[in-house]
Amino acid sequence: MLEPPASAVLVEAFANTVDVEEASDEIATPAGLSGWLKDRGLLDAPREVSAEAHASYVALRSGIREELGAHVGDTPDPRLLAAADRVLAEHPVLVTARGALTPAAGLPPERGPLAVLAIAWSELVTTGDAARLKRCAEHTCGWAFWDVSKNRSRRWCSMKVCGNRNKSRSYASRQRQAT
Ligand SMILES: [Zn+2]
Repeated sequence: MLEPPASAVLVEAFANTVDVEEASDEIATPAGLSGWLKDRGLLDAPREVSAEAHASYVALRSGIREELGAHVGDTPDPRLLAAADRVLAEHPVLVTARGALTPAAGLPPERGPLAVLAIAWSELVTTGDAARLKRCAEHTCGWAFWDVSKNRSRRWCSMKVCGNRNKSRSYASRQRQAT
């Protein structure tokens, strides 16, 4: 089963709201975040998102991106992981008798999607699929991708672009060392 589950598609899209190469960020502002949540079906309509809630989304994304980086061998920043943990702790998730995870009742609408993202992430972690979700080892790229390789060994979003970039750079540094 190498097709990404819906939870992976969602977390991957969330992680890729920031584009390192293009220096762009779809959720840089509360309005941008609201639009993104609406497009993903996580909000029924564009809503005002407070600065505090906005900061929670950004912190959760940073922590998840650090963990996706760890999946290709990068050392995660513990402060970013801890900040994401605080966001997750504030957005409880319940399990129903039918075995479904749902956001705890009483979360304000602007924060409901944080619990939905937490559910997607917890599903990936529980099934072990999280290990296939990675942040490209080429740091100028940093794109989140789903590793379809059998042994989950991919480190770059695209071997053609990022893998080769990395190879030519290490080749260049070997050449420099040799002279
Ligand atoms: Zn890449």
